[in-house]
Amino acid sequence: MAKACINHQGTIAITQCFQCHRPICSMCVTDTPHGKFCSTECSIKYLDYKKRFPDEKKKGSPALRKLVGTTVIVIAALIGIHILHAWVGIEAVGKVDIIGKLFGSKPKELLEQGLKEGGKVVEDAKDAIKKK
Ligand SMILES: [Zn+2]
Ligand SMILES: [Zn+2]
Repeated sequence: MAKACINHQGTIAITQCFQCHRPICSMCVTDTPHGKFCSTECSIKYLDYKKRFPDEKKKGSPALRKLVGTTVIVIAALIGIHILHAWVGIEAVGKVDIIGKLFGSKPKELLEQGLKEGGKVVEDAKDAIKKK
């Protein structure tokens, strides 16, 4: 069932306003990069609303970025402690040297191995992106 335009009783609406959802005809449409609106007031209201309540979809990524950032900081800190302990020889940090405890006494080999594995992961990721 086609709806009539809110401003033109006899004209069938081609779309509806993004903000107030009222049916509007091609003459009444205010076309913006953000969507179609019945009036400039509605487009302003919509943009104002978007500013205060950003997209649900977009909410996920900053949180994920934050998590990745935190993980990187934690790993960097663990590696720093490990280097202090294994290479500089500060005994006090040995208690918190988790990497050293996990991998034993060959930090250099493990680091090289880790870099190799890391490079492979990056290559795999590149391949996966290419396939897309
Ligand atoms: Zn409207
Ligand atoms: Zn109209």
